[in-house]
Amino acid sequence: MSASGAHAAAVLPGATLGVMGGGQLGRMFVHAAQSLGYRTAVLDPDPASPAGLVSHHHVQTDYLDPAGLARLSELAQAITTEFENVPAPALRTLAAQRPVAPAGDAVAICQDRADEKAHFARAGVPCAPYAVIRDAETLAAVPDTLLPGILKTARMGYDGKGQARVSNRAELAAAWAAMGSVVCVLEQRLALQLELSVIVARGADGQCVHYPVQQNLHVAGILAVTQVPAPDVSPELAAQAVACAKSIAASMDYVGVLCVEFFVLDDGQGGQRLVANEMAPRPHNSGHYTIDACDVSQFELQVRAMTGLPLVQPRLHSPCRMLNLLGDLWFRAGPTEQTPDWAAVLALPGTHLHLYGKTSARAGRKMGHLTLTGPNAEAVQTTAAQAAACLGLVDC
Ligand code: ATP
Ligand code: MG
Repeated sequence: MSASGAHAAAVLPGATLGVMGGGQLGRMFVHAAQSLGYRTAVLDPDPASPAGLVSHHHVQTDYLDPAGLARLSELAQAITTEFENVPAPALRTLAAQRPVAPAGDAVAICQDRADEKAHFARAGVPCAPYAVIRDAETLAAVPDTLLPGILKTARMGYDGKGQARVSNRAELAAAWAAMGSVVCVLEQRLALQLELSVIVARGADGQCVHYPVQQNLHVAGILAVTQVPAPDVSPELAAQAVACAKSIAASMDYVGVLCVEFFVLDDGQGGQRLVANEMAPRPHNSGHYTIDACDVSQFELQVRAMTGLPLVQPRLHSPCRMLNLLGDLWFRAGPTEQTPDWAAVLALPGTHLHLYGKTSARAGRKMGHLTLTGPNAEAVQTTAAQAAACLGLVDC
């Protein structure tokens, strides 16, 4: 069944929507789908997965298990994914039975940094200078201009995992060996002015809507803070980022929510220049603020896009800041896990606490997020600083 044919008639509320993966993104997707009156089915092997816990159905099998996939397509009238490392063959198997958005082919591009960069080029969007390292020859052929650089595994990296900063050829060779000599991408290490991301949602009919540009702060490779409106981004640069994201989506005939991360660089003439970093074929951590600060969330747009319901241009109704709550916060007082003082945070105006229902905290684990909204950016900044002080957060 082709994606466009499958989407010709909308899958209406009352139907069951399936999602591959049961993490926090799946959980927020399930919440949005249920608000619209859908039933939900999650496939995730983990019995305590955040989305599985709140879904009508939870298929607890491996992502490639034929019986699990058959059960999901039996239960669900339309299916999506909440993480990009879901095996693309699983999505293709499901697509033989049910409409699947985004399609396995699009997800496959996003799973591989080399394919992803080749796709950026096809869409006419620049990215950081890079080389693909597959073997000893391609390692030796890396130009000196890429050093100092960042070596990234082509597949399965997230939250800065599978990356190494290398300054010279000896470090590069050692880092590549330490990664098991798997296919990697070496990127030139760029002097970033700032980082931003853009979320678009595209329907099977080609209609594409977008959120305002988000300004993101990463700490140790993990997203820490998202701010909207982006304080340091000119309207021209924002428009350019949105146009790039739409071009990237359209050139792979994408259906669903897509996030593109960009680096902003000094263009050498006192202006700013944009390069694409990577993309995610799903709602994104930098778009969590849309739940509380926009009139339609990224998760609702995913529901609309995959079911063939109308997409509408979302509107930001409040300036906001999103703070990620990592497991580290549970260990501020020492080695024993201790729940942060949520009551103190919730006593502040305009705080929206989202916890993902994960049973144990670990350093670096995304346990939840806090969105702060207010009448203006200054008020949001003040509340963010107060919330950060309550929690012992350094970046806000
Ligand atoms: P995630 O999927 O969680 O966004 P990731 O593990 O896929 O992260 P990247 O987005 O590639 O990793 O990199 C994480 C962060 O490392 C970036 O947001 C940026 O802060 C920094 N970084 C990555 N590549 C470069 C580069 N070429 N030059 C300078 N900084 C970089
Ligand atoms: Mg990233």
